Amino acid sequence: MKYVTLGKSGLKVSQVGFGGIPIASVSFEEAERCIRTSLDLGINFIDTARAYKDSEEKIGRALKNLKSERENLVIATKAIPKSLPEVIHSLEESLRRLHTDYIDLLQMHNAADQAKLDRSLEILEGLLPLKEEGKIRHIGVSVHGVEWANRVIETDAFETIMIAMNFIVREPVDVILPVAREHNTGVIVMKPMAGGEITNPRLAFKFFLEMDDVAPIVGIKSPEEIREIMKIIEDGTPPTKEEKEEMDRIRRETGNVFCRRCGYCEPCPQGVDIVSINVFPSIIKRYPPLYMLQQGMDKSLKSYEKCIKCGECEEKCPYRLHIREMMEKSYRTYLEITGAR
Ligand code: SF4
Ligand code: SF4
Repeated sequence: MKYVTLGKSGLKVSQVGFGGIPIASVSFEEAERCIRTSLDLGINFIDTARAYKDSEEKIGRALKNLKSERENLVIATKAIPKSLPEVIHSLEESLRRLHTDYIDLLQMHNAADQAKLDRSLEILEGLLPLKEEGKIRHIGVSVHGVEWANRVIETDAFETIMIAMNFIVREPVDVILPVAREHNTGVIVMKPMAGGEITNPRLAFKFFLEMDDVAPIVGIKSPEEIREIMKIIEDGTPPTKEEKEEMDRIRRETGNVFCRRCGYCEPCPQGVDIVSINVFPSIIKRYPPLYMLQQGMDKSLKSYEKCIKCGECEEKCPYRLHIREMMEKSYRTYLEITGAR
């Protein structure tokens, strides 16, 4: 296993980290199997958040059962930057749920705009005594949006930044990484498989083999998934010319209509379920459409009928997607599938 140093934090983490979102939808036993396999394969970096339902509890219980050496692990979690007391409360809860005395990396969750960034900076000052006490070792931030990420990095306040990056969303390679390197800010990557849009893990992870200073976080629901990904990572063969061409083809086909599922466009004042409508075309590539409609997507798709095309959602989208066009297309697909009109 190769290790990546996360910028000025100095944290040395495995080339791939364990992402805590998907285990929120599996049993405690299955979550433990996923974590055990990941640790056995050499992963030492676990990323979660208070907002990921019972992810912290599952991780905490698994690490306790597995009797893992705490000092060999890098545990990262996140707190929503509402106020200093709320972040301290969130931290205490995280410590309790994760069965640990300290968090290696506490990240301000989604410092999405100037107000949230300002609040995060104030909170960060207030957290310094907890850093001295040893309850937090390092402080980072997670954000969406390329230009905004650079403004956050340029504050020089955070030791790491978590951003979305993959071979579809590759702007961060050219725009964010140079700035992060200049400021020695560690880069953690969310959505390496574009939130499920990329279905080929070989291509998804080969993309990262050409970078030795970023740590993608991979969310898995079964030990088999992480075994498959680690084979690609351990093999270490960089992408071939043909594989790069394949990445380019997929990027061309999906890049400017690809919803990152960040949710910044919501809530819609008319109650339109924007994100579910946008992701419907990619979901039905992987799951039977009628099954997904029975699982509640039918109601979400029908909510499109309330859209008055005001464009407010597009102003809030950090990726400047043409949401109204995307939703219309998705809704047409829905009508074709259901034969509703
Ligand atoms: S265009 Fe306006 S009404 Fe339609 S989804 Fe966006 S915010 Fe809602
Ligand atoms: S449409 Fe834009 S803001 Fe909304 S979830 Fe997708 S990427 Fe995020």
